[in-house]
Amino acid sequence: MALTLGILEGDDIGLEVVPECVKVMKEAAAKAGLAIDWRPTPIARKAHEQFGHTIPPGTLETLETFDGWILGPIGHREYPKNDPTWVNAHPVFRLHYGFYANYKPFKSYPNLPSIHKDIDILFLRETTEGFKVDGNLFKGYGEFMPVPGMAIGVCVTTELKSRLIAEAAFEAARLRPRRKVSAVHKNTVYRYGDGLFADECRKVAARFPDVEYEEVIVDTFAMKLVMKPQQYDVVVTTNLYGDILTDEAAGLVGGLGLAPGVNASDWLAMAQATHGSAPDIAGRGIANPYAMIMSGKMLFEWLALKRAEPKAAEAAKLIERAMDRVIAEARHLTADLGGNAKTAEMGDAVARAVTAA
Ligand code: ATP
Repeated sequence: MALTLGILEGDDIGLEVVPECVKVMKEAAAKAGLAIDWRPTPIARKAHEQFGHTIPPGTLETLETFDGWILGPIGHREYPKNDPTWVNAHPVFRLHYGFYANYKPFKSYPNLPSIHKDIDILFLRETTEGFKVDGNLFKGYGEFMPVPGMAIGVCVTTELKSRLIAEAAFEAARLRPRRKVSAVHKNTVYRYGDGLFADECRKVAARFPDVEYEEVIVDTFAMKLVMKPQQYDVVVTTNLYGDILTDEAAGLVGGLGLAPGVNASDWLAMAQATHGSAPDIAGRGIANPYAMIMSGKMLFEWLALKRAEPKAAEAAKLIERAMDRVIAEARHLTADLGGNAKTAEMGDAVARAVTAA
């Protein structure tokens, strides 16, 4: 049976990198014999032009019937404020579908400029709780100002989400050669919230005796990550720490253009690059498609596991190998990677490498 995958382009460079991702995924699926029913779904500025809303009525219900989708970056910073028809889809999706797990891998390449070599880290960031004001309450807003000059923020941590994200981390670690999980928190100070998180990580660790486990206090971790990132394999952490530390990790391997990701619940997943819509370079065809293409690859990996679809695993491997080759050859790299290829030239090169594999 065919998998159904949505294509949601987003804004700005989303219109440039998402088509490259789909191009490569289609090539890999065809080669692996994986049938996919692709469903372009209007979202963001283009959807507003057509339907008067950045998330047109019925979108949430439609997406729920898919196996997953690709979401391009949203240019929400330039949306009109205080207009309910201009909504950033990302936090809406995260909350509506309960995407608690954000998988973010960071890998250095020998021939690309990076602060360190031999980095291969997978971050598992919880994304529905914590200090993130847009996402941690069913209704209402987690930050408020009782009197001028004083702001109060609410941090939410539950046993359930801590356990779920820890389980996702240990399951992911089992599939990697080093089999190590580092839980990052600060339970020495945030005794209840981070305390719950750490307790749940520890309980899950006891169920995975084949995976090495350690805990690192977040400030120490931030320093160790800069000094010796090679010591980390899978890192599990809470929402805000993960937000900051994953941008730090992106900086270590060469920038946001190299930072893919998947947002997942237990039954649905969305491929989404870490970077934003980059309006400063949009429309020039120079955005790096790596992060979006590799997010698509990660969606295939997720589908391989959760839909028990070995052909999706094969398609993911084809993309990974093709990307490794294009980067090693260094003939079709975008400007941020030191080359002079256009977005579509790099996408074409990866698609060709998939075909040739
Ligand atoms: P947001 O808050 O929406 O996530 P941001 O503030 O993190 O956005 P980005 O849009 O990610 O900002 O852009 C940050 C910088 O990285 C910009 O200079 C942008 O041009 C650059 N950048 C982001 N993505 C890419 C990419 N795919 N290729 C090349 N440069 C990129």
